Amino acid sequence: MSEVTFNAFVVSLATTAAVHFGDMADPATGRPGPVNLEGAGQAIEMLALLERKTAGNLTEGEAAFLGRVLAELRRRLLDAHRERTGPVSPGEDGRPPAAATSSTGAGSRGSGRSRGLRGRLQPANNVRITFLGTGTSAGVPVIACDCATCRSDDPRDKRWRPSLALAFDDGTSVLVDASPDLRAQALRFHLTRVDAILLTHAHADHVLGLDDVRIYNFRQGGAIPCYGAARTLARVRRMFDYVFDPATPKGGGLPQLALRELAGPFSLGGATIIPVPLLHGTLPVLGFRIGAFAYLTDCNAIPDASWPLLDDLDVLVLDALRHKVHRTHFTVEQAVEAARRIGARRTLFTHMTHDLPHAATCDALPEGISLAYDGLELDVATAARDRLLVAGCQAAHLY
Ligand SMILES: [Zn+2]
Ligand SMILES: [Zn+2]
Ligand SMILES: [Zn+2]
Repeated sequence: MSEVTFNAFVVSLATTAAVHFGDMADPATGRPGPVNLEGAGQAIEMLALLERKTAGNLTEGEAAFLGRVLAELRRRLLDAHRERTGPVSPGEDGRPPAAATSSTGAGSRGSGRSRGLRGRLQPANNVRITFLGTGTSAGVPVIACDCATCRSDDPRDKRWRPSLALAFDDGTSVLVDASPDLRAQALRFHLTRVDAILLTHAHADHVLGLDDVRIYNFRQGGAIPCYGAARTLARVRRMFDYVFDPATPKGGGLPQLALRELAGPFSLGGATIIPVPLLHGTLPVLGFRIGAFAYLTDCNAIPDASWPLLDDLDVLVLDALRHKVHRTHFTVEQAVEAARRIGARRTLFTHMTHDLPHAATCDALPEGISLAYDGLELDVATAARDRLLVAGCQAAHLY
């Protein structure tokens, strides 16, 4: 009997996927079996689950091997699916007709849509979004400022630094960015666990809360995967060098962060996360699309390759700093223009300065567009269409 190692276990699941793809003979019959993309998708989901559950407990070699195998299988699944695009007759392989799914917006939790391969790429679930912070890097009120917004009694005029919490139907809890206000946000919004962190970029207002996630490490055991572009992760490594320096004495309350470089769409919480390349001045940063929802903070330009990733959205969250022009952020007017072009059913602005009092600014915005505020919650469908995944992969060279 061959030695049981972690890599051998990964290979056995990968073999199952390969048999379902029709790339290998079925060990039971010695002959290639019928192509079963749903089965292949299931094996890939199991490997993805394994990756999540073992985060922080693998050797570097094991983690790299698992990452490579998963990336390869996901590419294979996309290719297989691309080969099948075009008219799909109802009932083929027991799958639903190609046009069976569309994003349904808030309120579709628990709908009984099919869970074939299409369903697996497009789970019929929702994600609950909580705005933990909607302010710019200084927050609102601004230190020592006595302007009307900073003195306002309207709770929507209190803005912590920008961050989102995502609660998926399967219980997975994800942070988008870790703001310097993370501790206060976690206490106020009862954020009891963090299974992963998505990083848009490494500016201080988006990552300085990373040290505070150590409490979640203690509570949950193990490292927390942090997904970001290579340049973002490199900067996080420099900013938090004490965290990643093996010479740092242990036991001093270090956060455990498992940095995961993004190279395209990936799965989390039973949903597909599509990184959306954006420009924040000259700095390339990422937004994220999840089903019918997109979060585009810190940007003042959307590259050509990213527009197709923003098609058919129920909820768009977009940077809108203030009215006065800025080198790295959309103004309200520019954000309205971008929002109109994207055409989401509902658009919420974020990353606002104290120049934008909530009520008065909302009153002046076009129908369907308003300012987000700290504590705002909404449910959005996590269904994603396949062509978005393909477009997401094609945009990968921009990451
Ligand atoms: Zn002020
Ligand atoms: Zn920034
Ligand atoms: Zn920012």
